[in-house]
Order: sequence, then structure tokens, then C-alpha cells
Amino acid sequence: MNSSITVTNAQIPMLDLGLQHSSIRQEIKAAIDEVLDSNHFILGPNVKALEEEVAGYCERLFGVGVASGTDALILALRAAEIGPGDEVIVPSFTFIATADSVSLLGAKPVFVDIDPITFCMDPSQLNGKLSRRTKAVIPVHLYGQSADMESILDFAREHNLKVIEDNAQAIGATHRGKRTGSMGDIACLSFFPSKNLGAYGDGGMVLTDSEETARRLQSLRAHGTTKKYFSTEQGWNSRLDEIQAAILRVKLRHLDAWNQLRRSRAAYYERLLNHVSEVVCPKTADGNEHVFHQYTIRVANRDVVQKRLSARGVASTVYYPVPIHLQPIFQLLGYTEASLPNSELAAKEALSLPIYPELTGEQIEYVVEVLTAALKQ
Ligand SMILES: *Cc1c(COP(=O)(O)O)cnc(C)c1O
Repeated sequence: MNSSITVTNAQIPMLDLGLQHSSIRQEIKAAIDEVLDSNHFILGPNVKALEEEVAGYCERLFGVGVASGTDALILALRAAEIGPGDEVIVPSFTFIATADSVSLLGAKPVFVDIDPITFCMDPSQLNGKLSRRTKAVIPVHLYGQSADMESILDFAREHNLKVIEDNAQAIGATHRGKRTGSMGDIACLSFFPSKNLGAYGDGGMVLTDSEETARRLQSLRAHGTTKKYFSTEQGWNSRLDEIQAAILRVKLRHLDAWNQLRRSRAAYYERLLNHVSEVVCPKTADGNEHVFHQYTIRVANRDVVQKRLSARGVASTVYYPVPIHLQPIFQLLGYTEASLPNSELAAKEALSLPIYPELTGEQIEYVVEVLTAALKQ
């Protein structure tokens, strides 16, 4: 019987940044060398150029480079005047930073359920979350696909709410022809290494069309100073450095090609998994172009399936095992099990498979073979 088991050394990671680096090594080295020779390490010409290039790419007038995606959210919320006593509606099924940036400013995150098809905020649930204190909504473009921004923006306009897009996972995606990050009042990007546009360290950016907001953000990232050693309000030290900006400028030139490769990898998964009845493949909503930051399926018995994949060298990750309304840090808000059923079910069923531009067709076939065997076992 043993002869039917293929012995393989295959190790398929979630992401292979080493492979990506080897394809751009010379460009990156030249860019870093230039910074090292320039004597300018923080908020210099590369940061300024990157701000313009990323803002342009995301169809925005202004970009403000900061130290991380989390800081981008905190500074964006502060620039939107969110503080103690305010409520901000956020999806429960997202990375913790979307919500704890709100509570760090003394405001209250109010959790809304997701659309089970896209995993993004369900606009039809927003009305039930509204109160006199609601000031803003943070849609998250989860896994690389836009939330239903048309409905969210309509709702926000009707109720005079600010919209802050959490675009950490979806740079380059579009919704009805518009780039994610171009639609809300303010948008946030993360350049964490594993993101579709990732630095070799931490980084982030805030995007806006308002010159006044951009100025405010520039002040907030530098201790609330409007000119040197002259502080008008409390701020942060949240600056983007020149080496990361120089690296990101190189990578930005490759982003469209990489996103296209991610889409073709996703299409191949879909073709192979379509007839596997136990698997629900990710769906792209009408009017959206997806950039597949993650390729996230749904399966029953997810944790068992994940162990079996791991035993045969196939990495997979659960984004996210606990919906935020049930996280210990938000216990005081009083949410109970079954209060946001779609988020809770997604936390039980979602499984992200390896996806990255360099992933080969053979590797995808192996992942699907191992997954299919795991489901039948
Ligand atoms: C990565 C991420 C963030 C935070 O970005 P950092 O750069 O890691 O601080 C925020 N929101 C979402 C949805 C993310 O995926």
C-alpha cells in the first residue's frame, strides 16, 4: 500500500520573499546604495517621491508616509477628529489593528458583520449599528478585494460619517473602475513585508485628496509640529525612512505585474478546485478587480484539514481565527457568541492557501492534490 504514497520533499510556503528579492536584487541594491551615500535617512527625497508615486497610483492627490499601517490608521482617525466619546463602525472579521487603532484614541469600535461572499463589511447591517455618537466607518478591503464602497459611501453621506478605507491588503484593486484607497475621505496603506507592496521592514501611508488633511497628517507624524521645534498639538514619532521608501519605489514599478500574476494563480486554483465540492472558492464581487493578497477558501473541519496540509509540507494560514468582537481585549464591550454570525463562521471555516507571484503551476497542482486528499481522508 505504501507504494501509492508519493514521497516528496515539497515545502510550499505561504509566501516566498526570497524568490521575489532575487528577481529585483540589482535594482534594490542600487537604490539602497544611493540612500547610504546621500546622508539623508528619514523623510527625504525618496519618501517625498514615493508619496507622490503611491498617491498617483491610488488616484489620490496626497500621500503621507508613516511608520506602519497601524500608525496610518491611528493618524487618519486623529486627523478625522475621532476621540473619546465617538463611535467608529468596523468589521469584526479583520486584522486587530483596524479596531484597536480606534480604541487607542479613546473612541469605541462598534463591530458590524461581514458579507459571507466577499468577507468584507456588509453595508446592509450598518444601519443597525448607528448611534448619535457614530462619527466614522472603516471598510476593510479584505484579502485584496474592495468592500462594497458604493453602498458604504451612500450610507456615510446620508448620515454625515467619515469613511476611512483600510487598504492594507488591496493596493491596486479596483471597485467599479476606481482604485481602492481613492474612494473614502482618507485611506490607509501598510507596507509590512508580506503585503502586495511590501518594504524590507515596517512602513505605511495615509492617502487623501484634502490638502488640509495632508498638512495635518504631516504634523501628526512629527510630534504635532507645524514648523521645526514649534508644536501645536500632541503628535507621534511616525516617520517613514529613506531606505524603505527607496525599496518601495523599486517594487511599485513591479506591482501591476505581480498583482496580475496573483490573479492568474488564483484563476488556476479556481479551475482545479471548482469541482471539489467540499471547498468554497473565493468569489470576486461584480464590479471588483481582486488583487489576491490572500487566496482564502472555506472548508468544514478546517483545523484538521490544516494539520493534514502541514504534514505534507503545504503551508496554510488562518486569517483570522477569532473575530474581533470576541477578542479578550474587547470583552468589556459585551458582545456574545452568535452576535455576528457571518464573522464567527468565517473564523471557523476560512483557510488561506499559498499565493504569490512566483508560485508555479506545479506547486498549485500539488497544493490542490494534498488538499483534496486531506478532505477525503
Ligand atoms: C497589515 C494590516 C494592518 C496593519 O498594518 P501594519 O503595517 O502591520 O501596522 C491593518 N489592517 C489590515 C487589514 C492589515 O492587513
